[in-house]
Amino acid sequence: MNTKSLYQEVILDHNRKPRNYGILDNASHHAVGHNPLCGDRLDIALNLSGEHINHIAFHGESCAICKASASMMTAAVKGKTRADAEILIQEFRDMALGKLNLDGHHHLGRLTVFAGVRDLPTRVKCAILPWHTLHAALNSVTTTSTEVTDDSMHAPVDSAS
Ligand code: ZN
Repeated sequence: MNTKSLYQEVILDHNRKPRNYGILDNASHHAVGHNPLCGDRLDIALNLSGEHINHIAFHGESCAICKASASMMTAAVKGKTRADAEILIQEFRDMALGKLNLDGHHHLGRLTVFAGVRDLPTRVKCAILPWHTLHAALNSVTTTSTEVTDDSMHAPVDSAS
């Protein structure tokens, strides 16, 4: 299957049946992310048990790309450690910005369907917002925006923790 039709199929599937969509009771970590360029607003909540992300949920108002990215992200990080999630956040961000060598070693798996957004500058932030918001939540930053230049999105992941 070519990349473009796989991409469209994944976006449709995750919009029809978003994974981990809803509100999490008793979340230990939580953040709201906003992408004013598109109007995306996401609320991400998770529960850490030790270093593991036991539960994660998202809800909000967003475009299809943002929602699909959030849905796939929650499925990808659920059960993982905080450190593994931060690696995925960094890799996804690098991929969306066209800085990741997709043929090299990475952990993105099916998330590579989003690689094409690097050629769509107006959609890059839609795809990154869920990851940006997860990063904020894991670091106990409760509100974030893709337009804040001095926040954690623009700092190396490992220096922000
Ligand atoms: Zn969007």
